[in-house]
Amino acid sequence: LMQLFRPLDMLGTVYRTVRQGLIDMAAMFGLLDTAVEVRDAPGAPALVVRTPTVVFENVVFGYEKDRTILHGLSFEVPAGSHVAIVGPSGAGKSTIARLLFRFYDPQAGRILVGGQDIREVTQASLRAAIGIVPQDSVLFNDTIGYNIGYGRAGASAEEIEAAARGASLMPLIERLPAGFETEVGERGLKLSGGEKQRVAIARTLVKNPPILLLDEATSALDTRTEQDILATLHRVSEDRTSISIAHRLSTIADSDRIFVLHEGTLAESGSHTELLGAGGLYAEMWRRQASEDDAVAQAAE
Ligand code: ATP
Repeated sequence: LMQLFRPLDMLGTVYRTVRQGLIDMAAMFGLLDTAVEVRDAPGAPALVVRTPTVVFENVVFGYEKDRTILHGLSFEVPAGSHVAIVGPSGAGKSTIARLLFRFYDPQAGRILVGGQDIREVTQASLRAAIGIVPQDSVLFNDTIGYNIGYGRAGASAEEIEAAARGASLMPLIERLPAGFETEVGERGLKLSGGEKQRVAIARTLVKNPPILLLDEATSALDTRTEQDILATLHRVSEDRTSISIAHRLSTIADSDRIFVLHEGTLAESGSHTELLGAGGLYAEMWRRQASEDDAVAQAAE
């Protein structure tokens, strides 16, 4: 009987990993309606990430035949580095994230994670290697402990607590009537946007992926909460490779490298200081955002 159970159990783990990836991606990019067309290659092995690098090589992609979104995009994310992808609305930032998660395959070019073409490994192993912290995380109608442990099947109570600590959730959990056993979600205790995001960070810590994909627009939160969450995210990213999809430039200025996307190609790349000095698209975006922020600050006075 046990022999029968083991594969079923494994199936459960794989299913959960894939499902969590799907749920988080859906939350991050409104993908709920996306039909998953991509299948694993027959006999595909699991992705093994020895050095967590990400490479886009001449990637051409469009959702529809006659409208190309990415026109031969190439960039490299070295292991352990923190990069940000910026660009005007509609430039293709979220598309890059969807391709990296293999919700679609490029029409030409390839994407490598840890040196392996992502089309040649299982999707479950690919999605297990990349953690995402969506802005608006989905909470299940279950305990807060369950919601954190969902990051990885079989996580122990100690691992869940360590993750909660890492995500600075302990002050909240200590205040809750039943601690980790407190019911949250629609039918339980409602958490604030910032608290939900910390749950998402804790889930990611339980999953412990070598690569992180961050959605850095935290506009739904007040500035103080935003600063706190950003500090936590930076701490969590420290010993991992991270890719931030940035909507506000102020949050990514300290990235090792910033990729500026424009009309489906890489228009510029460099550090914040280099890009400001170059006086191109990034410098222009920075100037515009600074004056917008000033206007907002003045209106608030
Ligand atoms: P934003 O900063 O506004 O989120 P973005 O840079 O993330 O924008 P994408 O969401 O990647 O931009 O979209 C790039 C282009 O692809 C847009 O023109 C968009 O309309 C188009 N697009 C996105 N999703 C689909 C889809 N499912 N089907 C067809 N076209 C799509």
